[in-house]
Amino acid sequence: MEPLFLIGSKVIHKIKQQGDEAYFVGGAVRDFLLQRPVHDIDITTSAPVERIEELFEVTIPLGKEHGTIIVRLEEQSFEVTTYRSVSDGRSTLAEDLQKRDFTINAMAMNEKMELIDPYNFYNDLENRLIRAVENGVERFVEDPLRMLRACRFSSQLNFEIEKETFDAITKCRGLTERTAIERAVTEFEKLVKARTFSRGLHYMLSSGLTQHISFLKGKEKALEDLAAMKLEILLSLEEVWAAFLYVDQTEQDLISYLKALKKSKQFVHQVVRLQEALNTYRNNGWTNGLIYKIGLENSLKLGRLLYTLHPEENHVHTEQSLMKWHNNLPIKSRRDLNLNGQLLVQAFQKEQGAWIERLLVKVEKAVLAQKVANNTREMIAWLMKERDINDEGQAFGDAFRK
Ligand code: ATP
Ligand code: MG
Repeated sequence: MEPLFLIGSKVIHKIKQQGDEAYFVGGAVRDFLLQRPVHDIDITTSAPVERIEELFEVTIPLGKEHGTIIVRLEEQSFEVTTYRSVSDGRSTLAEDLQKRDFTINAMAMNEKMELIDPYNFYNDLENRLIRAVENGVERFVEDPLRMLRACRFSSQLNFEIEKETFDAITKCRGLTERTAIERAVTEFEKLVKARTFSRGLHYMLSSGLTQHISFLKGKEKALEDLAAMKLEILLSLEEVWAAFLYVDQTEQDLISYLKALKKSKQFVHQVVRLQEALNTYRNNGWTNGLIYKIGLENSLKLGRLLYTLHPEENHVHTEQSLMKWHNNLPIKSRRDLNLNGQLLVQAFQKEQGAWIERLLVKVEKAVLAQKVANNTREMIAWLMKERDINDEGQAFGDAFRK
């Protein structure tokens, strides 16, 4: 048995010992049956949260008001939830299962890993179908996020959305406008990072859901293009957003768009940087200057982006060749430059001032463009010559002014 289930069985065992029912439930059961890796385990129980809290040494009261508590055991977390519907002890496992979103998520398993499936939902799992539990429209009116979850599951599991459920999504799609943007973003991100993302994207498009999701509305063409790309090459979400926005090109103000997604400042900055790198690449291709400016890690991201966006073009994109290129740069940072302010003051016999930084920027560029070697004497000689050439009024001459 997987270690996570093994520890989970101990949690169930302990709850049962004191007279309550407890089962593995939901996604963990689904993934176990599909032999997919399980990353989080939910347990459903007849016990009210207070009793669970007393029973285990370490609990985290996250979502206690919704009847959920996190139990920590052997360094693992388990989300333990009291049977849904009336939390007065009268509810049953069968009722709890009925309250769940999709049939594939509405099965339970006891601590011996025996399936408990009172409604024969296993059939849908076998037939690879996503079907709303009971009435789709009712389920989606209750919680419109479920429509996005349906598309996301089709993307992660490569399952079909059953026809009536799909029709219900088409009917209820307008309700997605009620869902919190960060929850919609999370579902969208899970969808695009999954193996059969194009399937999920097609469901989002064909149901018309995208028209009611603020950050996807009007970007249908870009989503279609995205569906045909090798997104699996991209390793981070920053890359995925950069690819999407690059394909889209309708966003005038990227920063406001990304901020509205409630992503972190750092995330927004990263995506913007990748956009800039893509644009710089479009203008000049790979150069020492570009790789120097964005650094190795971002160069690798850019390489993956270019391969995803334009697989037909023959760019330098492999990790190996970019690492080699970065390694062969004449300098990797300002610190590698064999020139500094003090040496410049001595050489030019001038007082310290803003001119120093201007000259260092010039010489840094020249070294990267291999116009001059990273050698103190040669760099000073080159700067002196440039000063003579550009003596009065020229852009370069300006750098020498105080
Ligand atoms: P994953 O963990 O891979 O994102 P999951 O199906 O496990 O997928 P969770 O959010 O962990 O999703 O929820 C666990 C279970 O709780 C689900 O399998 C489902 O039974 C139930 N559930 C979650 N969200 C909803 C919802 N919006 N409506 C109804 N039931 C839900
Ligand atoms: Mg889960």
